[in-house]
Amino acid sequence: MPKSIVSELQQRCWAEIDLSTLERNLKLIRSALPPHIQYVAVVKADAYGHGMAQTVTRLMHCGADLFAVANVLEGAAIREIGSGWPILVLSSILPEEDKQITEYNLIPTLSTVEEVERFTILGKQVKRKIPVHLKIDTGLGRLGVWHEHAQDLYNLIQEKPDLSLEGIYTHFSSADSDPEFTHEQRKLFLKTLDRLPGIDTKRLLIHADNSAGLESFKRGQPFNAVRVGLLQFGVLPYPDSLLSRVKVEPVFSFHSRIGLVKDLPAGTGISYGRTHILTRDSRIAVITAGYGDGIPTTMSNKGSVLIHGKRCSILGRVTMDQTIVDITELEDTQIGDFSTFIGKQGNESIDVTTFSDWALSIPWETFCSITKRVPRIYHTDSAI
Ligand SMILES: *Cc1c(COP(=O)(O)O)cnc(C)c1O
Repeated sequence: MPKSIVSELQQRCWAEIDLSTLERNLKLIRSALPPHIQYVAVVKADAYGHGMAQTVTRLMHCGADLFAVANVLEGAAIREIGSGWPILVLSSILPEEDKQITEYNLIPTLSTVEEVERFTILGKQVKRKIPVHLKIDTGLGRLGVWHEHAQDLYNLIQEKPDLSLEGIYTHFSSADSDPEFTHEQRKLFLKTLDRLPGIDTKRLLIHADNSAGLESFKRGQPFNAVRVGLLQFGVLPYPDSLLSRVKVEPVFSFHSRIGLVKDLPAGTGISYGRTHILTRDSRIAVITAGYGDGIPTTMSNKGSVLIHGKRCSILGRVTMDQTIVDITELEDTQIGDFSTFIGKQGNESIDVTTFSDWALSIPWETFCSITKRVPRIYHTDSAI
């Protein structure tokens, strides 16, 4: 699409990303942690849909120490933005991606003997030590070496002159729902570390905490890094958490417009399948956004949008390009008026968690589901 058209037209559906809020959030999170803790900014999946380039550039300028991504493509994108930051790849690497690890100077996560052998061969080929992190599975049942076998894999890595062990980490399974299990995982991780011969926790990066994990972060343990995703975007991983003392604010908001207003008599069926029948004479607005933009069909007949600072209910099925809402109670609504799916209007707001609850989803998934059709508009005012 020609750029000039995008900038000349008012948008139909767009996301606004406030980079100064992102910067403020990072600083708030950092200041709640001991100063020696390294900040690993997790920016996988296009920085949770906020836009990799803009997000990473801002985070580089405001104090991220490392970046974490899901794959080599994402790592390469960050490497093109700046060279000074270590980049950890959190997912397992496919064999054909190994070369990109050295080409873009990325740090792979190792969980198996097979991976250790592969990266040893790679290190020999490129005649350079490959920096690696060892991941330990303490109960997520996904990546990482099972904790009972961690010592063997650790010893194997230490024996390899072509690998340089730079960090050891684990990942919580239920940090946002089960504090007891998280506590057990943390203890198990620490116990496993204790059993690793000659381990130098000062030299290595030792990390476990994602956003929700920070809830139970304790000073005085060997942890010296945290991996923050959701929280830096201003979303608490669950309500009423201690973290709510860290006054982060949403970076992301999601808006659309009213494309049509009309009056319909009671008894009219609304949208495909006629899953809502008007129980009174009504005024409806057709919003210029649908599942083609990231409003999931699970929000059909559920959920609301803000118009003129008031919540208006979604009626009937969400369609690809249009969503119908009830504006019978609103005065003076016109074509072109703004509607907000996620964000604030006056004193009312809908946060991403509420939107996700309506959609039977979670905030992480909601951010990943806002589609390519939705332009991201950036506010870049420098932070206070
Ligand atoms: C995505 C991810 C994180 C960040 O999680 P948030 O809950 O968004 O803070 C941290 N660690 C790993 C291994 C991840 O995959």
